Amino acid sequence: MRFSRGDAYHYPWGARDVHARARQRHGETLHVLVLRAGMIVSLASIRPWLRRLKPGNRAPRDSGKAPGAAIDLPAVPGTVAFVCNLCGTPNTVAPAELSRETPSCRRCASTVRFRAVAHLVCTELLGCDATLTELPVHNNLRGIGLSDDDRYARALAAHFDYTNTWFDAQPKLDITRPPESMIGQYDFLIASDVFEHVAPPIEIAFINARRLLKPGGVFIFTVPFSLDAATVEHFPELNEFHLEQRNAQWTLHNITRDGRTESFGNLVFHGGPGSTLEMRLFSQAGLMQQFAAAGFSSWRIASEPCAAHGIAWPEPWSVPVVAIA
Ligand SMILES: [Zn+2]
Repeated sequence: MRFSRGDAYHYPWGARDVHARARQRHGETLHVLVLRAGMIVSLASIRPWLRRLKPGNRAPRDSGKAPGAAIDLPAVPGTVAFVCNLCGTPNTVAPAELSRETPSCRRCASTVRFRAVAHLVCTELLGCDATLTELPVHNNLRGIGLSDDDRYARALAAHFDYTNTWFDAQPKLDITRPPESMIGQYDFLIASDVFEHVAPPIEIAFINARRLLKPGGVFIFTVPFSLDAATVEHFPELNEFHLEQRNAQWTLHNITRDGRTESFGNLVFHGGPGSTLEMRLFSQAGLMQQFAAAGFSSWRIASEPCAAHGIAWPEPWSVPVVAIA
């Protein structure tokens, strides 16, 4: 599947009323673990996987169970069982509900993307796959988020020296112009579905992301991306611009640096018109070029599943990326 500009943020799974379905199931117990959507396995079959977790990296035995073993639950055929790594709640959902943007935790409404961000903070910084509610406080690890969703921002703030920031509200951070006092201060930086909205040239945002981090610091990054050869900039000469709504249609008017006027219709907004205009559709290849050009020492596609926490990436696009400063 290739994205066109008009459907860049639409996923084939769609939104479902997972909360109502979870309420119907309330009180049921579960005893299966599912590694990937539609694939039910027994606890015995995942024990080798659990053994690969270093004993010291497991959740404390007295405060709960190891992440995988937390699911000690009766089988519900055709469902996926997982424990939310943000709030610690056991869930069963239909396999299709384990998708990037579908709320699939019945308690905190976390999505696969939100759980993956927290999962990557833990695995990259602590070397363990933790449920945050069982994690000791790590105030020695300083992190910053760019407009992070409250569902995982609150959980991270409770366990790390973490601050969420906003483009237009306090505490403010414009990734294209971070203050010098913040440079080189952070062990981790999260930008989840933000960089597609940053005004061009986007190269500056990647460079500043690296500059904010300490050497070896971790950049946890998501955007919708295609598998096309190159990123598509929708407004490459954006300079002085404004949005205008007429007859329910939005138009972007721009005056380029050399004084030409240009207008764009058929705009794509994420989560509501006005503030979340899609500036570009990244491609995977284009992203990798940005991480290289910004001076990161390494970067990787971080699409590894985590069955215990309901994290699965059945498609190759729009998956998380981790880059090391
Ligand atoms: Zn949850």
